[in-house]
Amino acid sequence: MTPATFPLGRIAGIRIGAHWSVLIIAGLLAYLLATNVFPAGAPGTRPPLCWSAAAVCAVVFLASLLVHELCHAFTARRCGLKAERITLWLLGGAAELPEEPRTPRAALLVAAAGPAASVALAGFPGYGRTRGGGVAAGGRRGAHLARLDERGASGFNLLPGTPLDGGRVTEAVAWKVTGDHDRARRIAGRGGQLLAAVLVGGGMWVFLVTGSFEGLWLVVIGWFLMFAARNELVAAPSREALSRIRLADIMTTSPVTAPGWYTVQGFLDLAAELPFRTFPVVSFDGQPVGVVSLGQLARVPETTRTSTRLESVCTKPTACFAGPPETPLMEVLGRTALRPGQDLVLVVDHGVLAGVVAPGDLARAVELAALGARVRRPAES
Ligand SMILES: [Zn+2]
Repeated sequence: MTPATFPLGRIAGIRIGAHWSVLIIAGLLAYLLATNVFPAGAPGTRPPLCWSAAAVCAVVFLASLLVHELCHAFTARRCGLKAERITLWLLGGAAELPEEPRTPRAALLVAAAGPAASVALAGFPGYGRTRGGGVAAGGRRGAHLARLDERGASGFNLLPGTPLDGGRVTEAVAWKVTGDHDRARRIAGRGGQLLAAVLVGGGMWVFLVTGSFEGLWLVVIGWFLMFAARNELVAAPSREALSRIRLADIMTTSPVTAPGWYTVQGFLDLAAELPFRTFPVVSFDGQPVGVVSLGQLARVPETTRTSTRLESVCTKPTACFAGPPETPLMEVLGRTALRPGQDLVLVVDHGVLAGVVAPGDLARAVELAALGARVRRPAES
């Protein structure tokens, strides 16, 4: 997750997070409901009641986004794909799938699952009421407003341009028709760019002609969509190439290891002669126990360096990334929110350290993939 994302927990092993943009939207929704919609719909309602009802609505709003994304993720799993993270953000959410669907059918099912869930939720009796303000007595206008909002949002999400769900559906259909996934991706990505341009242009026009702030809102959404669509177009070909790379393809075998039983001082004398900043730490019987960086060693007070062992200061595999050689590179790229100096990936084969992947190796693989070159392990000196 990016630094702008707040972790919210886990559901069925899927990590859930929220981007600041969606939290602002939820806050804005609560504010509008509490200060405008509820007081107007039910005059005389006391502010604390309005605010608590508004807070419930904001939570239900986030929950409905989450249900939508969970449906994408669970369908991906049913299609044999990995689903690890969901990030809620301005345009709804993103179920991050490290693996690409292998068939147009799987792509279509995964893309359509979210909108299908939203349609089902919108038809759920009482849902609109809770969402819009059934809690505040007589908040019918709130209910109506939120429902309209929901309908508008789901309709928008079905427009034919990636990264919107409609774009993913378009991509799957174009894939089926042309038999060429790359071409299908370009078609859907161009669709997204076109939509973004229409939104920005149309929004500006609405704002300039009518002075309505809804126009500016369209510009903001179009602006986000523009970046997302561009990203789809640029990243898609290299993502395809990256999805085929395994850790074994890029790892450095027989890396220099730090003996976990050494003291910090004892190891410093060795490390000073080596060109590395991070080291895999191994136990006496050769098992990998973590990653240690010079930065971590520098934080050990000088007086205790002769009595502190590396094992006790290193980052444990729960905090750094350790995986078998066949781990897809995409899985690691999705998780490298690791701090500099601890971002060494341990490749572990049957309990033994088979190799390491440094941030430079990851960057090299990404860049080679973007250049369309085959990614191979560098010749070892
Ligand atoms: Zn969706």
